[in-house]
Amino acid sequence: SNQRVKSSYILKELEEKCATPSSKLRLIADAMSVEMHAGLASEGGSKLKMIISFVDNLPTGDEQGVYYALDLGGTNFRVLRVQLAGQSGIDSQEFAEVSIPPQLMVGSSEALFDYIAAEVAKFVGDESEKFGPLPGRQRELGFTFSFPVLQLSIDSGTLIRWTKGFSIDEMVGKDVVAELTKAMERKGVNMRVSALVNDTVGTLAGGRYDNKDVFIAVILGTGTNAAYVERAQAIPKWHGPHPKSGEMVINMEWGNFRSSHLPLTEYDNTLDAESLNPGEQIFEKMISGMYLGEIVRRILCRMADEADLFGDTVPPKLKTPFILRTPEMSAMHHDTSPDLKVVGNTLKDILEIPNVPISTRKIVVEVCNIIATRGARLAAAGILGILKKTSRDTIKDDEVPKTVIAMDGGLYEHYKEYRHCLENTLNELVGDEVAKHIKFVHSNDGSGIGAALLAASHSQYI
Ligand code: ADP
Ligand code: MG
Repeated sequence: SNQRVKSSYILKELEEKCATPSSKLRLIADAMSVEMHAGLASEGGSKLKMIISFVDNLPTGDEQGVYYALDLGGTNFRVLRVQLAGQSGIDSQEFAEVSIPPQLMVGSSEALFDYIAAEVAKFVGDESEKFGPLPGRQRELGFTFSFPVLQLSIDSGTLIRWTKGFSIDEMVGKDVVAELTKAMERKGVNMRVSALVNDTVGTLAGGRYDNKDVFIAVILGTGTNAAYVERAQAIPKWHGPHPKSGEMVINMEWGNFRSSHLPLTEYDNTLDAESLNPGEQIFEKMISGMYLGEIVRRILCRMADEADLFGDTVPPKLKTPFILRTPEMSAMHHDTSPDLKVVGNTLKDILEIPNVPISTRKIVVEVCNIIATRGARLAAAGILGILKKTSRDTIKDDEVPKTVIAMDGGLYEHYKEYRHCLENTLNELVGDEVAKHIKFVHSNDGSGIGAALLAASHSQYI
């Protein structure tokens, strides 16, 4: 039929526009590496902020005592307590998790931080007395804040801009630690913020605690970002004292990467134009969990409109931005039932499109596959960029340093096809010999534990 011809035409065009052959991925990796150099050379020198984290020592395993962490990411908010027992590891840990009410993401900074501080107050109020600080001492915490922050010291930093659907204008330019500290005072919590860390830096710290070969951390969750260990000598914009370790952790803020080599489509361009932050976070908008389902929705919408994919009219729900979330996309993509039952149910329950024939369900799965594959392969190219920048992508003098990459985030954790594609693509790009020396580890909640570990190493009492 005419519809079928038209939809297979749109699909074919999509496949071509989203293609990521390894030659293209190498160009993207090179561009990433070039931008990394530029961002390290001067403040504002690149789309990549390459933020100096003030973390020049990663955990050693000697950390001791009770420390807390807060993790404000995008969707959920966690409070965590860990009891560190030096080389014998973590004695105990406990956490509480709540979701951030959407109205607080676009309200006032006071309301957001009061909500967070109230959860901290509740968490501390509920805990056993044995965890309490020694008389005259304060509890100490690491604050994982996964938005771009211009770090001023290990325990202060100002918000550069919001991402991932947050938008509280008055917060931009303010010190997030001061805001949190004031809110905790309002709620009667006596707690010192000893470390302000990005989730990537926390994941790197948590990953290093478990494995000394961890050099890179990548988050693939609501948004995406990466951090890695850089040589202090290779950071021209750093004018502070030379760290004893000779190293500095860099928070890349790679979500804002963009390059003419990125396979951008009309769907990406309109998604961006209609987003809260047009022109920003282009890489993030192609690869992270907040956006993958939405890209798929936009493609299906065009197919419904131009190829009558779901009948004569465009189903009204399909026109609702962000109605198709990445977990649902993932569930459809992984549907192995012969009649694609999960796809059928998702279309019915979420988009209110009943009785979709199997041939159409197959098209939906193919769209999910194209978009997930593109995202995962681009993420792999980003990692290759870091490996190139740090000379870990080739064999020199018969030696390849071991590189462990600490991975975290709901997308990486739960979207199996995406994760496998990402890992296979990196192997394809570096080749089998080098791939033997590169390992991905899932650092489950590494960012929270990592922040607590950094709070420990930056304690006011040591
Ligand atoms: P955050 O990034 O907000 O700190 P997470 O790391 O938990 O939080 O990531 C949550 C994101 O992970 C969700 O917004 C969603 O995009 C993605 N996600 C969660 N579950 C799944 C799933 N089953 N399949 C695919 N993506 C998922
Ligand atoms: Mg997170």
